[in-house]
Amino acid sequence: MSTPAQTQDRTAGATTRELPAGPKNYRAWVARSAKQPMVLETLDPGPLGAEEVEVAVEHCGLCHSDLSVLNNEWGISQYPAVLGHEVIGRVTAVGPNTKARKVGQRIGIGWFSGSDMHCRQCMAGSHHLCSQAQATIIGHRGGFASHARAHWVWTIPLPEKLNPADAGPLLCGGITVFNPLMMHARPTDRVGVIGIGGIGHMAVKFAAAYGCDVTAFTSSESKFDEARGFGANHVVSSRDPAGIKKLAGGFDLLISTVNVPLDWDALIGTLAPNGRLHVVGAVLEPIPVPAFSLIGQQRSVSGSPTGSPVAIETMLDFAARHAIAPQTEHFPMSKINEAFARLESGKARYRIVLDADF
Ligand SMILES: [Zn+2]
Ligand SMILES: [Zn+2]
Repeated sequence: MSTPAQTQDRTAGATTRELPAGPKNYRAWVARSAKQPMVLETLDPGPLGAEEVEVAVEHCGLCHSDLSVLNNEWGISQYPAVLGHEVIGRVTAVGPNTKARKVGQRIGIGWFSGSDMHCRQCMAGSHHLCSQAQATIIGHRGGFASHARAHWVWTIPLPEKLNPADAGPLLCGGITVFNPLMMHARPTDRVGVIGIGGIGHMAVKFAAAYGCDVTAFTSSESKFDEARGFGANHVVSSRDPAGIKKLAGGFDLLISTVNVPLDWDALIGTLAPNGRLHVVGAVLEPIPVPAFSLIGQQRSVSGSPTGSPVAIETMLDFAARHAIAPQTEHFPMSKINEAFARLESGKARYRIVLDADF
């Protein structure tokens, strides 16, 4: 968890001052150690950084990464941890050097809540690739709390047309699948989405709205009709090797959202010449890629994390224009441990949002 001193470091030499308004203490759901239920605690937030924004949390999406960090699956968790990185809330205070954010404004915070703002990547507008980027839930307090903070650049204004209760999952899951489309797809492309879950169903909606011919790959036949409802033109069982083989040479872009090993070579075989398998699901087992599967057809395998602040803003604008929202289940934040259990069960359809009830 960041100390006030670390927070000051992050705002690059700027001075700090006492919270101008708002509560002295925050309430937060705290994970004291790995794999333990979260408990409600009162925290002293310390002084607000000069370039930081404070928000009163209204809703916060529950992302699979929250579960991975709770369970220290990636070995990078820091306890005590306040999870939650799909934050929607209203600004309650702004540091004196903050630009373009006002008290009362509704904003979102995603996977990152800060970056150094002066490295080559930040200066190029790729803040999400900054080596000093601050993950919202690692060494920093996330959104399963009464309040959250972020550098003002990483607080993204929410378009009026988006329903704030369901917009949270766009801030992490949504941008994670929207960014590959922006980088690698054209509206005329044939796009496959592997895994129709929390982020895969948003990928189908975005790709369909973008104009692509969309194929959903899912291991669950119970999701076939829903995938079509999200805009998929075709649905294929990811457990049907013969069905996958029939798609050989068909896709310009495959976006993999799953975190389990698949028959990767068969999937690469479904790529058209110049096609790309793009990985956003954090599968821990290495993906074997035979050289000849890439060379002959000039194919690629790539990956990406979330997206820059401007990419997130663009995604929210696109979502508002096309009325794209995740399909959600809501829990009061006081039922956070039940919500995590529901996510872990794999039964959530499709994304869980916690509503603040402090
Ligand atoms: Zn996430
Ligand atoms: Zn940077």
